[in-house]
Amino acid sequence: MAKIKIKNKDRCKGCYLCIVNCPNNLIKISDQLNIKGVKPAVFSGGKCSGCTMCALSCPECIIEVYR
Ligand code: SF4
Ligand code: SF4
Repeated sequence: MAKIKIKNKDRCKGCYLCIVNCPNNLIKISDQLNIKGVKPAVFSGGKCSGCTMCALSCPECIIEVYR
């Protein structure tokens, strides 16, 4: 099964484009603030297809997809 890694949560700016673009709804909003004072996106696990939509939509290029 594929999976993703969000490499540096402190670079996440909380745009949540990755969340909007995941067809399987596998990315959530953290409860904790990062260094920018926003709640970063986190991978919740589950059936990731490796479609790369999250990584392609991230303006900070901090999402890696493994498949
Ligand atoms: S698309 Fe990138 S910057 Fe935006 S919420 Fe997701 S991980 Fe953070
Ligand atoms: S690779 Fe596709 S299915 Fe997996 S988390 Fe990203 S958008 Fe969702």
